[in-house]
Amino acid sequence: MLWRRDVRHLANAELQKRLALVRRQSAESEAWLDLVELALSESRDGAGWQDAAPTPPPERPVKTPLLFRAHLTVDRRTARRYVQRLLTRAAARADGASLPRGLNVAGLLEAAICQDDARIDALAAGGGGGGDPHALRVVAQMAALPLLQACARATGWEAPPSWWEGYCPVCGAWPALAEFRGLERKRWLRCGRCGAGWELEWLRCPFCDEKSHEQLGYLAPEEGEATRKVEVCDSCKGYLKAHATVSALPPWAVLLEDLTTVPLDVAAMDRGYRRPERPGYALEARVTEHRRSLWSAAFGLKVREA
Ligand SMILES: [Zn+2]
Ligand SMILES: [Zn+2]
Repeated sequence: MLWRRDVRHLANAELQKRLALVRRQSAESEAWLDLVELALSESRDGAGWQDAAPTPPPERPVKTPLLFRAHLTVDRRTARRYVQRLLTRAAARADGASLPRGLNVAGLLEAAICQDDARIDALAAGGGGGGDPHALRVVAQMAALPLLQACARATGWEAPPSWWEGYCPVCGAWPALAEFRGLERKRWLRCGRCGAGWELEWLRCPFCDEKSHEQLGYLAPEEGEATRKVEVCDSCKGYLKAHATVSALPPWAVLLEDLTTVPLDVAAMDRGYRRPERPGYALEARVTEHRRSLWSAAFGLKVREA
């Protein structure tokens, strides 16, 4: 008898399990979970996005994220097909929320990567559609994931120890959570967009650099699991969810961890803490599409769109 050795799709099974958990926990997020699922599977696969990561210039100003003023070129077919799938799912799910026709896909990706909500709202209103800005903001967040994760994948996911900032070394976003890893409980901050991780000392607020232990505290439930808490800063009133882990969470799990811990957000916000509204670092990145001809696809050449 012939036996075939096959690979177990453990991460995928784990992903499905976590998505089912989020669906059970939060009925109101149900409408958007299809989009999250699509974004995570497109990011994990990564096919078609891998060439978009920019080559870092030999000398970059210190403290600037990798994508600061970067020019990203995405494969036109991959980007359009993926954004169209997101729009179709969003329209089906969001009680008929209207989404603009003839959307500028590269413009949407650029605004999403730069966390430029005003531009996303303008895109929703454009195209003669009078689209729903909230629906398009969710689509935009999910649209940016495969591209951002392709960029973080190219860096090996983790920042060098010389990175000492509170914002993401790849995409400039504030961290989605702090991870306390292993027995040493080292504090790693994780980005919920690109999945990158970077180590930061225990007693330091990522948002305002406060280091005084009198201003830094945490909220923890009196009963229940002790692996999760909320770090709070009384100087800037920022908060960050924290999670004890054995090792680094995979990038998809960072986003799901954020979505499954809404009660921690509620506890923090009830006490006057909040996540900063502005991005950690304004990226000023550009996104353009390129089209692959059959010839260029065969030889790996890019034809940039005008
Ligand atoms: Zn990031
Ligand atoms: Zn602070």
